[in-house]
Amino acid sequence: MRELKISDAHFKTSTGYAYGDIGREKLDELFAKIFHAESALVRTQFVSGTHALATVLFGILRPNDEIVSLTGEPYDTMQTVIGYKNPSAGSLKEFGINYRELDLIGGKVNFSEIKNFVGKKTKIALIQRSRGYSMRDALKISDIEKICAEVKKINPHCITFVDNCYGEFVEKFEPIEVGADIIAGSLIKNIGGGLAPTGGYIVGKKNLVELSSYRLTAPGMGDELGASLGTPRLLYQGLFFAPHVTAQALKSAIFAAGIFSKLGYKTSPAPDEIRGDIIQAIEIGMPEKLIKFCRAIQNFSPVDSFAAPEAWDMPGYEDKIIMAAGTFVQGASIELSADGPIRPPYAVYLQGGLTFEHAKIAILKTAEIIGKKI
Ligand SMILES: *Cc1c(COP(=O)(O)O)cnc(C)c1O
Repeated sequence: MRELKISDAHFKTSTGYAYGDIGREKLDELFAKIFHAESALVRTQFVSGTHALATVLFGILRPNDEIVSLTGEPYDTMQTVIGYKNPSAGSLKEFGINYRELDLIGGKVNFSEIKNFVGKKTKIALIQRSRGYSMRDALKISDIEKICAEVKKINPHCITFVDNCYGEFVEKFEPIEVGADIIAGSLIKNIGGGLAPTGGYIVGKKNLVELSSYRLTAPGMGDELGASLGTPRLLYQGLFFAPHVTAQALKSAIFAAGIFSKLGYKTSPAPDEIRGDIIQAIEIGMPEKLIKFCRAIQNFSPVDSFAAPEAWDMPGYEDKIIMAAGTFVQGASIELSADGPIRPPYAVYLQGGLTFEHAKIAILKTAEIIGKKI
């Protein structure tokens, strides 16, 4: 922030087309610098992480292109975007884009098979850093480095694209530094620091970010429009807080792993394992208890503590999902939150925590309510 001379002037709001919005331009520059990338597109016009990720795919892919997932089944909403597991209106499949996925082996990336799997004509290799709603491990930055190297060995033109959700600032390095061409994520997870009110980001090679920008706005317009409507200071200040808030979330996750493994539940990661994201999965084993867990986290949250979450058909998801998010920013999962699909093994995914102090209270109270594994 010092090097780029961030100033009060960058926090001014813009309206209308917002041509020449220096706050928007500087924030893009700042994200590019932090990620060691050529270019960035940071916008509250992205409605979510899925929107930012889909913008990259629709921005770059053309009919008959192929995309492959190298980390098994993608996150639930991304499967809907791709449209292969189940048909979905407006999906990549409807636009004639081909898709294959390389299965994980025992929850790990099948590194040795990548060279046989990525083809000469594969346009994008999708790499998901976080576990999503699965019991697999999050990737480490060293895993991402290995995957990118394998892909480039076979096909130097294949674009390595990392779904960076929940991974930001967990490790010292970020995907672009180890060979990813483009990455995307949500501003209401790690990198918004709990202050960003909405939005997403795309960071990477200049030409790829530019193609994505034509999909976010319109061909020819790209990154040169987009009013900030009062949000800039929150995005800058949230970014400033983000490394610390991510550390609070990690500490909370480790604490939860410790408590719930003592109570007999399978936790992933284990309390002493090295982490690649802020997610703590806990195998609860029973749907009723999973719901009870989410309700307990909700009840010990600062906002809407009186509400009882219900599993529902969330847009973009195939299974019913229950989400506890007693959060200041609706559904922000950098704030303490717990969620999961109602499907075996009935695992709950706990993440976030703006302050460890709050997370500790909520986790202890939840442990009291849930009790030992039976
Ligand atoms: C959160 C997440 C997304 C995007 O989810 P949104 O709710 O749309 O922001 C995508 N991939 C993974 C792995 C995620 O964890």
